[in-house]
Amino acid sequence: MSKHDFGFETRMLHAGQIPDPYIGARAVPIYQTTSYVFGDADEAAHLFELKQYGNIYSRISNPTTAVLEERIASLEGGTGAMAVASGMAAEFGTFMTLCSPGDEIVASSQLYGGSLTLLAHTAKKLSIKVTFVDPDDFEGWEKAITSRTRGLFVEIIGNPIGSIADLETLGEIARRHYVPLIVDSTFATPYLCRPIEWGATIVIHSATKFIGGHGTSIGGLVVDSGDFDFSGFPTIADPTASYHGLRFYDTFGHYGFLMKLRAETVRDTGACISPMNSFLLLQGLETLSLRMERHVTNAQKVAEFLAKHSKVAKVNYAGLPTHPHHDRAKKYLPKGPGAVFSFDLAPSKGDVRDAGKNFIEKLQLFSHLANVGDAKSLVIHPGSTTHQQLSDEEMIASGISAAMIRLSVGLETINDLLWDLDQALEVV
Ligand SMILES: *Cc1c(COP(=O)(O)O)cnc(C)c1O
Repeated sequence: MSKHDFGFETRMLHAGQIPDPYIGARAVPIYQTTSYVFGDADEAAHLFELKQYGNIYSRISNPTTAVLEERIASLEGGTGAMAVASGMAAEFGTFMTLCSPGDEIVASSQLYGGSLTLLAHTAKKLSIKVTFVDPDDFEGWEKAITSRTRGLFVEIIGNPIGSIADLETLGEIARRHYVPLIVDSTFATPYLCRPIEWGATIVIHSATKFIGGHGTSIGGLVVDSGDFDFSGFPTIADPTASYHGLRFYDTFGHYGFLMKLRAETVRDTGACISPMNSFLLLQGLETLSLRMERHVTNAQKVAEFLAKHSKVAKVNYAGLPTHPHHDRAKKYLPKGPGAVFSFDLAPSKGDVRDAGKNFIEKLQLFSHLANVGDAKSLVIHPGSTTHQQLSDEEMIASGISAAMIRLSVGLETINDLLWDLDQALEVV
């Protein structure tokens, strides 16, 4: 048979799976098992020494989860992947695998709230120093990098003002300093952007969002490009005490980072994904391209509608020509810059926080909750929820205004979404 490169949609449905040879099941079976019977005593010993690939215990690997891992690696163009309990577990596992106490991470200041608290507070308990920089301040990135820096961390579509990271420039800075660029690509998914093609070493997803796509399951993914030379990178190349001095780079080459993440970090921190959740995330992946196409066309229409509305002061969507990163969005996200964005209300009178609350309460289709990337449209008012403890001044400093509303645009009939927003804006 001649060699053939399969397209994205085909890999979405087939990558990583050979239909079960025993039963013939077409769907990926859910291997709801904690452990696996060893062939013999030698095999058991070899598996524990990492001298043979195979399943021991589902905290470390599982055949249902393996299909999800292979599939996302194929879609992102990586060498391999690991699925874990959540997006936060993916981030924590990545930083723990790359860093020793005293090492450093340089991170964008515009991040998901959980990523910010992990890096600003929890990382300190592990003696990992984190420096935050404005993602567009390239000199700032350069200056913040030291001989102890083990990763640069950025979101492709930043929270909450929809800034688009300049991946090519950041990838170049990372390579020059021999540091992996880690990209949280949750808001883009591999359908809208594949950061490895722009210089990222590691791609992280909260699969909870668009990959699962239906708001049913928490899960996280770590994808390794396989093209970062970890041969001189201390944590991956140096001997590890937890495997009698095994060196992950020497032993596993381009899989060194992922093997250490799996066989050491996740083995010991326990943040594994359940086979059932891997199955549900695979169901989501099967329709990813179709859903993302509709998500972005609906988001673009909602953004255009809001931009023209008299009760709206500002729309932070990079799909609009008025957004400062519109050209960058066209370069990195040519199919559309996602479906999560914020806008500012312009109440004709009264307090903007009250206007935000009234607006949210009047919405009928948009669900008021703390999630994004569901097939259903979602809304939250940061000023009265996630950021209510901040003063007006502090909110401005973090890029959040009291008048800001965040939307995750779903797959409903576009006219119904516009109708809902319009009738709710009447009360502003
Ligand atoms: C939700 C989210 C996370 C965290 O993922 P969980 O699956 O909720 O742990 C990380 N980054 C981004 C951009 C997110 O939206």
